Amino acid sequence: MLAYLMDAGVGLMGSEIRWRLEQALLSVEHGAERIANLSGVCQMPLSQTVGLPFHLFVETVEQAPVAISITDPKANIVYVNSAFTEVTGYAPEECVGLNESMLSDKNTPATVYRDLWSTLLSKRLWRGTLVNRHKDGRRYVAELTVAPMLDANSNVTHYIGMHRDVTDIYGLEQEVKNQKALTETVVDSMPVAAVLLDEDYRVILDNQRYKGLTSELGVVEPIKKFLDLLRQELGMAWEKYLRGGLGFKDRELRYDPGGARSARWFSCAGTWFQEGDIAADSYFNQRRKHYLLLTLTEITQQKRQQEEIRLSALKTLNAEEEKTQSLRETLSGVIHRIQGPMNQLAAMAGLMSRRAMDTQNAALVATLDQVIASSRETITMLQHCMPEPTQLRKAPVDLNQVVHEAILLMRDRLLASGIVVDWQPSPLLPSFAGDDKRLRGMFKQLIENAVNAMNEAHARNREIRLSTWQEHDTLHAAVADTGPGIPEDLRTRVFEPFFFLRASPGPQVGMGLAMVQDVVNQHDGLISIDPEYRDGCRIHIQFPRSRD
Ligand code: FAD
Repeated sequence: MLAYLMDAGVGLMGSEIRWRLEQALLSVEHGAERIANLSGVCQMPLSQTVGLPFHLFVETVEQAPVAISITDPKANIVYVNSAFTEVTGYAPEECVGLNESMLSDKNTPATVYRDLWSTLLSKRLWRGTLVNRHKDGRRYVAELTVAPMLDANSNVTHYIGMHRDVTDIYGLEQEVKNQKALTETVVDSMPVAAVLLDEDYRVILDNQRYKGLTSELGVVEPIKKFLDLLRQELGMAWEKYLRGGLGFKDRELRYDPGGARSARWFSCAGTWFQEGDIAADSYFNQRRKHYLLLTLTEITQQKRQQEEIRLSALKTLNAEEEKTQSLRETLSGVIHRIQGPMNQLAAMAGLMSRRAMDTQNAALVATLDQVIASSRETITMLQHCMPEPTQLRKAPVDLNQVVHEAILLMRDRLLASGIVVDWQPSPLLPSFAGDDKRLRGMFKQLIENAVNAMNEAHARNREIRLSTWQEHDTLHAAVADTGPGIPEDLRTRVFEPFFFLRASPGPQVGMGLAMVQDVVNQHDGLISIDPEYRDGCRIHIQFPRSRD
């Protein structure tokens, strides 16, 4: 019983309690008046006393810091200790002889008492919480444990009740619950997706808007994707934010779900906070736990508007560039065409001048020299008219964005040609150093080539598949069409300037793939025609991604 009382009703089995109580009662030899009554009703022979000094037993019960009452089988009180008086307000003389129900607030549901009594009647220990009324009328929450005391024949002789006033603890628990409910309500009603992560990036708390993203984006835990995007966006700085516990805001993340779904944009902010660990082992060694609160505000609408504005600016710019490019190509073509016959004339003049020179020959050679000289002048003049190519300017480029814009620039032509575009960007693609203008022009040229090829071959199945992906430190892009394809023996030659695959080149001068090759070279990349692809032509481009 001593241990039981010290445990204050914590974690003992009914049989053990019974044994301890019996042992304690058996130790009673002489007694304080109130306790001695108990030995009177107990059937156990006092000869079985285990030797615990009775006064110690009485003192322990008396001074136990928990309200203790001992009742007869009908719950009529026979003994209360001083903590009982302290908790309930009733002195022994005011409650001994009365039923424990004197403490009942009458608001505790009947089911609680039914449960209490059915447990006690089956001679088991009952533990629960109910509302008691103090002598002064004030209600308090009582955490009550009642154990039956059995005699040698297993008949209940007494009940021992122990209870604590846990109103303060209950109040604190409620406060925590209220606080939690309030936090959840506030977080839930936020118009942005919010998610709280622990140090291992596990979701501790999220809101409805975030849950909505799960189904909208079709992924189980979207935060994983967003964390990857964030790491890419912040690069080396991510570690700094992580270690320093620094917050960040206005980080724009582009989420590309691929397939038919268009990209979505989110503005991301992060705030770190710490809390004291509540585990027992950090009682003396206070540890701190770190949490990251991430908010994601969808800015797709704004981005689309910006994109539209950007696209119309791009279209204007592109029209200018196209004009310059076509002038450059036309002039190159003319120079190329003049240069061929001029070289032949120069060879002929050289041949003739080495032969015996009569007057007629001399006149012819002089005429040829004049023609050659004037051709050279024309070529020089044409070369001067050639617009200078713009300077190569490299900056971090989003390959997905570049391809996407090239598709948008070709949108009208693709629609007019009845071509279906299947765009499959890699959802996570790091940026790389490149000239976005040239790269965009390059992809536009590849799409244009694909459209021309399918139109010229009157292809029935008209589809262009574009995709991007990453392998280690290399970014890949592919443009595949369902046109006639390029014969195997010409797959290298098509990249040469002024090379035409088909007899009727129309307005083209055969510079498209040469320009593409140029841009790839400027980015230290590789370009090839996929030999395995059988449905048409598939151009595969690779760009190395510098770690800087
Ligand atoms: P009651 O008329 O007492 O009865 C409510 C239900 O319990 C009924 O269904 C009834 O059949 C059943 N019941 C009552 N007495 C017995 C019995 N002797 N045998 C079988 N079934 C019975 N109650 C508190 O509210 N606060 C306390 O701090 C508290 N401490 C207790 C300590 C001990 C050691 C014991 C044995 C009981 C304690 N009780 C306590 C329970 C108390 O005795 C009452 O049962 C309870 O207060 C309900 O009182 P009531 O007048 O509303 O209903």
